[in-house]
Amino acid sequence: MLRTFKGGVHPEDGKKLSAHKAIEPGPIPDVVVIPLSMHIGASAVPVVAVGDHVDLGQPIADASGVISAPVHASVSGMVTAIEPRPHPNGIKMMSIVIENDKLDTPYEKNQPLSESDRKNPDAITTRIGECGIVGLGGAAFPTAPKIRSGFGKIDRLIINGAECEPYITSGYRLMLERTEELISGIRLLMTVFGLNTAYIGIESNKLDAVAHIESMLTQNDGIIVYPLKTKYPQGAEKQLIRAVTGRKVPPASLPAAVGCAVFNVDTVIAVHHAVYDGQPLTTKVVTFSGDCVANPKNLEVRIGTPIADILKDIGGFKEPPRKVLFGGPMMGIAQPNLNAQIIKSTNAILGLSGTEDPLETEHVCVHCGRCLSVCPMNLMPVYMYAHAERGQLDKCEQLNILDCMECGSCSYICMGRLHLVQMFKKAKGQITEANRQAK
Ligand code: SF4
Ligand code: SF4
Repeated sequence: MLRTFKGGVHPEDGKKLSAHKAIEPGPIPDVVVIPLSMHIGASAVPVVAVGDHVDLGQPIADASGVISAPVHASVSGMVTAIEPRPHPNGIKMMSIVIENDKLDTPYEKNQPLSESDRKNPDAITTRIGECGIVGLGGAAFPTAPKIRSGFGKIDRLIINGAECEPYITSGYRLMLERTEELISGIRLLMTVFGLNTAYIGIESNKLDAVAHIESMLTQNDGIIVYPLKTKYPQGAEKQLIRAVTGRKVPPASLPAAVGCAVFNVDTVIAVHHAVYDGQPLTTKVVTFSGDCVANPKNLEVRIGTPIADILKDIGGFKEPPRKVLFGGPMMGIAQPNLNAQIIKSTNAILGLSGTEDPLETEHVCVHCGRCLSVCPMNLMPVYMYAHAERGQLDKCEQLNILDCMECGSCSYICMGRLHLVQMFKKAKGQITEANRQAK
């Protein structure tokens, strides 16, 4: 029987639009706009000035705290501005603008780690930090501090190949096309944590990826591939841990609390390149898909490339989309501004038509109870919504609304078409702010 977790939903996956499309290089941008914040934690601090020439892979902003990550040039060329620019989060964010000289002159100081350092957990982790690697599945938590906080506590290393969000196929293509790099990255993380075994969880709608990875492994690798039930949100950290190990991460706790560390396949491949090639994070494999996109593709694009440029290059939309999303339809962020750019955590750009106009639809709870059965965190969305609507934040907190991971399963299944997740996001923000002020 396939491993899984309790709850969850089965949205139409839409993956057939791009799953068969091999990764292609994206268009070479004339200009890249690289935000100083593409991660959770403190923004990076610029170490270049307007007028400077930079090489491909050169550090252009340093990490500025324990939870932070440096930023690197994704092209060679001239820094033409350091100023606020549109960011995929919907706000303007300080960014470094580089005019591409199209020479891709490599930054010569980026060199592979020595063979002896490749056996040294501290040296590997330092290199991961220097190369600006963050969680590439969407969370964007800097990887080096995540590893350091787990030193001595981790006995289960789990690689997340679930890719449960509809339409997204970038991780699937990476598992098929960059398998050696993936296995190499897993071995490095096993060295970091001093483990002889690692587990890869992959949903059963990607059994060819399971078979392909297994065909590349030997018994001595200690890497075990688990096919998982295809169900959303199978790739959420706590649900993946539950499915692979049977362990339950307590509310408000991190995976390390139950001895687990989870890394996305993209992140693991980036670890390989950082260590073996001295290559910082300057590109990202992104799925461009949705029923409105003329030519769905999986593209490896330079970080900082404006989305509008990429869409133009691949033929744009065949019909005007009702919405453009950064990320999947369940947790993605709607983009009003296509001048925003690809950042480290971008895994998909979707153009979707949809049929419902949310402003014209009546939203009423019909007490069907479906939200109660699908919540993977065992929460009570219908009651949380009712209290949040009345501003009863204390009652929301008693119902553990802060454990809501905003997966969207309840909104997806809701017969009353209630905007449950939006309400929970707002209430969580208000509770967090009230708690902060109380402190
Ligand atoms: S309440 Fe939160 S965690 Fe539960 S299904 Fe809804 S969005 Fe997901
Ligand atoms: S799924 Fe929607 S309509 Fe059904 S009980 Fe939950 S909130 Fe109400």
